[in-house]
Amino acid sequence: MTPPLNRRRLLAGASVLGGLNALGLAGCADDRALVAAGAAPSFAPIAPLAPVRSSMERVFDITVCLRPFRAEGPRLDVGTIGDATIVHNYGHGGSGWSLSWGSSTIAVQRALSSSPAEIAVVGCGALGLTSAILAQRAGAKVTIYARDLLPETRSARATGTWTPDSRIALADKAAPNFAALWEQMARISFKTYRSYLGLPGSPVQWMDRYIVSGGVDVQPAAPGGLDFADYQDLIRDISAAPVELPAGVTPFPGAHVRRFSSMQFNLADYGHTLMSDFLAAGGQIRRIEFRDPSEIAALKQKVVINCPGYGARALWKDESITPVRGQIAWLIPQAEVTYGLIYDGVNMVSRTDGICVQLLDGGDMQGYGDDNETADRDEARKGVSRLAALYARALPPGPA
Ligand SMILES: Cc1cc2nc3c(=O)[nH]c(=O)nc-3n(C[C@H](O)[C@H](O)[C@H](O)COP(=O)(O)OP(=O)(O)OC[C@H]3O[C@@H](n4cnc5c(N)ncnc54)[C@H](O)[C@@H]3O)c2cc1C
Repeated sequence: MTPPLNRRRLLAGASVLGGLNALGLAGCADDRALVAAGAAPSFAPIAPLAPVRSSMERVFDITVCLRPFRAEGPRLDVGTIGDATIVHNYGHGGSGWSLSWGSSTIAVQRALSSSPAEIAVVGCGALGLTSAILAQRAGAKVTIYARDLLPETRSARATGTWTPDSRIALADKAAPNFAALWEQMARISFKTYRSYLGLPGSPVQWMDRYIVSGGVDVQPAAPGGLDFADYQDLIRDISAAPVELPAGVTPFPGAHVRRFSSMQFNLADYGHTLMSDFLAAGGQIRRIEFRDPSEIAALKQKVVINCPGYGARALWKDESITPVRGQIAWLIPQAEVTYGLIYDGVNMVSRTDGICVQLLDGGDMQGYGDDNETADRDEARKGVSRLAALYARALPPGPA
């Protein structure tokens, strides 16, 4: 039988964990407001939680990517080169997938303000593809120009979770109106993602995630770190707050175990869906590497949505972009692992295309200013063994 939820424990256990903001989850760390408001806690019996087989022998890939971080937030202004109009749409830090539909909606509205029949999109990552699809839906003929197609882009190496304010800007550098713009982007994206839920292949799905703390907590952010913006309060109504679970209802041995539900993107399937949708609607793709913006201005389309991600640093000589390195070790997928986990500075996300194991040590400052895209096997081993240590102490899966 499920023990009843203890309200005092729920309140006492609602401590804020350092490092969660690295996942854009800082605002998820406190459920007191929810309880105070009298909302029913989202506690329900726990289904058996299958253990992750966490060992280096099961690591089939280690991927590294660079978050295109801009202290003032993404670049969305409109400029001209010669007779070409350029609408920028890059610099989304650790939130590019989460904000993609919202940011691209704004970019497409700006691009279509002169009603062009044809649009060029530079880039085929999260921002390029969503811009291209939205421009098609608005009736334009669209060609994507890109060096890499989605599976080869940095976007394909992301964790794939709903983290709309992860390293999106610095609190003291973002423009005063950026918070409102961010909220608009987050809400449009959230709504658009709904249309990818429940599809065969689960391109997008909701997943329960457990935060296990006590003993060894999530690593705190490095001292002297930057003040990354936290906008979670603006979308509290669409964010599920974590709820403390009574002791003994999960196999995890932590002093506090909390659960929340969040949207995740199974990027192999979701990416395939986006590419197929774009091509099925008559989209064209040209493989090309631009060396200089003048080559973009020379394209036959005279309205261009510019989504080169971190590539803007070289192509547009945009030094406002700071690389923020992130690495993921991929364990062979386990369909029976139907939850995610945050424990001891490790983020585990169980996707249909692999189990992501990501170290969070250092919080938001981890990888800041580091453009090294070489895989670090020791870092991978650290994450995998911390996860293995948790499962070694976990209780065997019980009945629901
Ligand atoms: C480890 C890690 C985990 C992450 N997890 C998440 C997450 O869970 N949720 C989330 O929302 N975000 C996450 N992110 C952030 C997200 O991955 C980025 O914000 C997003 O991928 C940026 O997408 P983009 O389309 O702007 O850039 P990219 O994916 O880099 O695409 C750029 C495109 O432009 C093209 N291009 C660039 N330069 C040129 C050129 N000179 N000529 C021609 N083509 C060019 C490239 O070939 C590519 O097609 C994560 C990032 C990292 C590093």
